[in-house]
Amino acid sequence: MTAKEMSDDNFIKFQDDFYNLLEKYGVSSIDCEHEEFAEIINLRNRIAEFIEQELYKQEEYSYCPMLGVPLCCISCGSRNVDAQKDLCLDCDADEGICADEREEMKDVSTSS
Ligand SMILES: [Zn+2]
Repeated sequence: MTAKEMSDDNFIKFQDDFYNLLEKYGVSSIDCEHEEFAEIINLRNRIAEFIEQELYKQEEYSYCPMLGVPLCCISCGSRNVDAQKDLCLDCDADEGICADEREEMKDVSTSS
């Protein structure tokens, strides 16, 4: 729900880069015979997951700062939210935050 999946193309490139990075810094050649292959896959998946979460956040919120629209909690409407963690600091709901357009006009008029 809170991640944007990489395309197959991107994932394959990412995997190549990831293996190359490990090998560049001394990990022996990575294939399914590698004695730590399961751990390497585990690390790869965790990093891929992190990237996908970041992509999702960028897509979700990239338009907000441009418009000067504040963010609020979907659950309680509070603006006391952590956009990075997608978390409401008032009610602790993690259902997500959205652009709060209730006072958009006021914000626009005071920002110029
Ligand atoms: Zn809330």
